[in-house]
Amino acid sequence: MKQPTATVLTAGCRLNQSESDALRHRLALQGVMLVDSPERADACYINTCTVTAHADRSSMQMIRRACRLEGGPRVVVLGCLAQRSPEQVRRIAGVDEVWDNERKQAEIAGIGPAPLRSRAILKVQDGCSRQCSYCIVSGLRGESRSVPTRRVREQFEGLLASGFHEVVLTGLNLGTYRDGDTTLAGLLSGLLEQCRGARIRLASIEPDTFDEALTALMSDTRVCPHLHIPLQSGDDALLEKMNRQYRVADFRRLVERILKVRPETNVGLDVITGFPGETDESFHLTRQFLAEVPVGYLHVFPFSLRPGTEEACRGEPVPVSAVRERVGELRAFSDRRRQEYQARFIGMVRPAIVETSRTALTDNYLRLSLTCAANLEPRALGDFRIGQEGSGLTGGPC
Ligand code: SF4
Repeated sequence: MKQPTATVLTAGCRLNQSESDALRHRLALQGVMLVDSPERADACYINTCTVTAHADRSSMQMIRRACRLEGGPRVVVLGCLAQRSPEQVRRIAGVDEVWDNERKQAEIAGIGPAPLRSRAILKVQDGCSRQCSYCIVSGLRGESRSVPTRRVREQFEGLLASGFHEVVLTGLNLGTYRDGDTTLAGLLSGLLEQCRGARIRLASIEPDTFDEALTALMSDTRVCPHLHIPLQSGDDALLEKMNRQYRVADFRRLVERILKVRPETNVGLDVITGFPGETDESFHLTRQFLAEVPVGYLHVFPFSLRPGTEEACRGEPVPVSAVRERVGELRAFSDRRRQEYQARFIGMVRPAIVETSRTALTDNYLRLSLTCAANLEPRALGDFRIGQEGSGLTGGPC
């Protein structure tokens, strides 16, 4: 009998990626062969995202593409778009099943990540009890809840045993991790005790949840000197309208504190531009703040009004042309900062995980094109000397 095949496509954040990994693991345990495209699959699972209008469009495109295949796979749609608009998804001809988030969690309950990856993503937390005015994801994923510490430690052990040298801890609001008295810092320090020859990276983390204990742990070289922290705006008035829990001065102090403990940390920021009420003056404050803080790169999001947030996001709309211009300016700034940050490490040696026969990723999130792939298996951790080729970086084993 022919072995059934399946593919899992993913849109959106690391949390979604970790859940797709768990789904792949479940399918593999059931004897399903995983393939990399819907054309070759009997079943296609599409794990969608709805964080922005752009995420909606890409998710819908993935679904339509899979449904259009002649004699194509059975199509199962899950994830935040399926949770928010199940009827819209169900109406697409060719969609066979739609799972809400409860069904998704039930399908992967108790399954650890078994990624076809060079680095493992370990989900330790889900949900968010906050109400940032622009965000619909927290409503779709429910209240903040954490994976028990004992379970995280077991999964972590399993990942090390299966040859991973990097584990990325992830959650929707990672910094709110709690299991009894154990905070994220407590969890991390426990994992570091288990961490033979591997390293741990923290996924995106809210600035006000990054406490002193976590900052102190950044001095441990097994914690990757790379953080992604959502700023969103450099204007306090806008942060307040967004219902964010910190102000610009707090953010500045946090970045200073981290860089004092670990000066080489690559600090990446999320910035939203075009939020209603973002005047030229507020954008100027963001620009000024970014110029003053040593950030390594930005992820720039043009504001997109999500259904159900209209009331919370009231304010003078920013003309589309101005949003476009601001996005362009911020992305150009990000490119410059990325180049400047990279330049600091040319000629230096850094530990990197081999991703493929062509690339490796350093602890501080620099992607290297390998100059010599001999004997380098994906997932291997080694020291690489960083060189430059055009605007990219190269790495050769030392
Ligand atoms: S912290 Fe804010 S933006 Fe992040 S998931 Fe929670 S509500 Fe959404």
